[in-house]
Amino acid sequence: MRSLSNILFAWLGMIDFIVPLIFAVAAGNKGFCNRYCGRGQLFTVLGKKAKCSRNKQAPKWISSKIFRYGFLAFFLTMFGNMVFQTWLVGSGAASLKEAIKLLWTFRVPWGWAYTGGFVADWIAQFSFGFYSLMLTSTIIGIVVMVLYKPRTWCTFCPMGTMTQGICQMKKTDTAS
Ligand code: SF4
Repeated sequence: MRSLSNILFAWLGMIDFIVPLIFAVAAGNKGFCNRYCGRGQLFTVLGKKAKCSRNKQAPKWISSKIFRYGFLAFFLTMFGNMVFQTWLVGSGAASLKEAIKLLWTFRVPWGWAYTGGFVADWIAQFSFGFYSLMLTSTIIGIVVMVLYKPRTWCTFCPMGTMTQGICQMKKTDTAS
């Protein structure tokens, strides 16, 4: 059971990070969002089937360009910071921090999920950082799912914003 909950499984989350971009770049569509994204499906199941959503219209600013791109910029900054922390640990300039940070602020000790020693510390550091990012975004997604429509998170999801931007660029390229 302990091995199944190992923090290193956070690396699998990179699939959800890379595959939507591959779909957008290669096929010019949001096929991943529409068919395969586990998080999108989770919000549909919880919100629609389990009726955990109030199903109310979200405020307009949530889907505004400025908010979506602002949130994307914030998310990418946090991602960059996480990669930097990983690099610091890899280069020996910092030591491994076995903690999950919720909402980029609250430290949640999670040492029980990592027994240590069998991978390099930077690999574990990336896992803790990436898990923090995924857990935080899932919690935000659940909150907006409950308050508004089931897939409100998808209107400002950084991956959705990036793939949409790529698809639009590809359409413009094809049209010109
Ligand atoms: S917008 Fe984000 S959460 Fe929604 S389906 Fe696409 S990748 Fe998944």
